[in-house]
Amino acid sequence: MSRKSYSIAVVGAGAVGLSAALAFARDGFETVLIGRLDTRRDGRTVALLNGSIRFLEALGVWPSLIPEAAPLQTMRIVDDTGSLFRPPPVSFSAREIDLDAFGWNIENATLVEELAESARAYENLTILTEQATDFRAEADRAVIVLADGSEVEVNLVVAADGRNSRLRQIAGIETQTWSYPQTALAVLLAHDREHRETSTEFHTRNGPFTLVPLPGKRSSLVWVTSQKRAEQLSKLDDQALALAVERQAQSHLGAMRVDGPRGLVPMSGLSVNRYGAPRLALVGEAAHVFPPIGAQGLNLGFRDVASLRDAVVDALDNGREPGSSETLRQYQLSRDLDVRLRTAAIDGLNRTLLTGLLPADLARGAGLLALSRIGFLRRAVMREGVLPHMGAPRLMQDASA
Ligand SMILES: Cc1cc2nc3c(=O)[nH]c(=O)nc-3n(C[C@H](O)[C@H](O)[C@H](O)COP(=O)(O)OP(=O)(O)OC[C@H]3O[C@@H](n4cnc5c(N)ncnc54)[C@H](O)[C@@H]3O)c2cc1C
Repeated sequence: MSRKSYSIAVVGAGAVGLSAALAFARDGFETVLIGRLDTRRDGRTVALLNGSIRFLEALGVWPSLIPEAAPLQTMRIVDDTGSLFRPPPVSFSAREIDLDAFGWNIENATLVEELAESARAYENLTILTEQATDFRAEADRAVIVLADGSEVEVNLVVAADGRNSRLRQIAGIETQTWSYPQTALAVLLAHDREHRETSTEFHTRNGPFTLVPLPGKRSSLVWVTSQKRAEQLSKLDDQALALAVERQAQSHLGAMRVDGPRGLVPMSGLSVNRYGAPRLALVGEAAHVFPPIGAQGLNLGFRDVASLRDAVVDALDNGREPGSSETLRQYQLSRDLDVRLRTAAIDGLNRTLLTGLLPADLARGAGLLALSRIGFLRRAVMREGVLPHMGAPRLMQDASA
């Protein structure tokens, strides 16, 4: 049986795992990335906020992604719940907080392809396209077993193996999971009118319906609705689906045309009771799953990676190993509150839409009204959404860090 040694192993070649492998290789670590590349297109785009863009800049991949991405300069929220207390539409402009854009929207598969392309260029980054089947932590190292029976020996294992993370299960890390009586339909659309770099979120009684700009007269849609309605919509032919979308969007982008494959995503969430175990750190959906509203999942996944990278670099500066318990403790501290707060915010928004109770409608409506009228509150909320105060990791502060 063959066994090779590296400093850091990343398991899972999704966007988060690829970015982690790149971040560690860029810092000079002998890194191995374990997992098969999956670039299937399923209607999913990711809105990447400002910090994520800085992170991709630091990894050197952003310039080649720019032509594939659309800036999000304005965000519009329209209350379409039919509630008695319905505030007028609210718009937020990135200019108000001195940014050109809140972030950029790009197809997830395009992002993964580009990250993989960059990963292939690093000499100190080995890519093994086998699945990981087992993991064990020993006193001074970790051993990963691959599907072909070979083994990899490393100082630190980064589990980026997604929501059903095998490594998380083997390490015995407990999870809390929950679901909502909703499903999201994801699809790309072409339309007659310009989107003017504006994303529009209609808050409906069944969940948010959000159109996000793509380059040209194209947008991505995440339509959160009841399970039954989502299944009905997914079975419509392209023409009928485009018409249903246009109606729900109140025709603000004109006539619609379906412009790519569709995906159906059950609305669920997952959180963990800790972000690591001896010699193991969880990142991305291995550590937290969000329903696809509020553009949180990948942005937080990148923040996990950038925070873990800081913890590893600090460990080395202090004469410790990448996979030491102190490194993992620092990583845990950096992620816990951030992920908890965002999980609660997304959960709260979705549930107030679903309840239909007047007090919840009042609270949501009053919140939106306050945001539309009170300048400093708007700016504070926008800044916190895009550039969180809580100790942004170094690769998200400055591309040259
Ligand atoms: C419709 C939709 C819209 C979204 N919009 C946004 C958005 O606007 N903004 C945002 O930030 N986020 C968004 N998200 C969330 C975002 O897409 C995810 O958070 C992100 O893609 C998760 O990346 P990941 O690398 O952690 O997981 P994954 O992409 O699931 O990657 C995990 C990888 O691990 C591999 N793997 C699993 N087990 C093993 C093993 N044993 N060995 C080796 N490899 C293994 C898998 O094959 C996979 O390649 C959206 C999600 C959806 C569904």
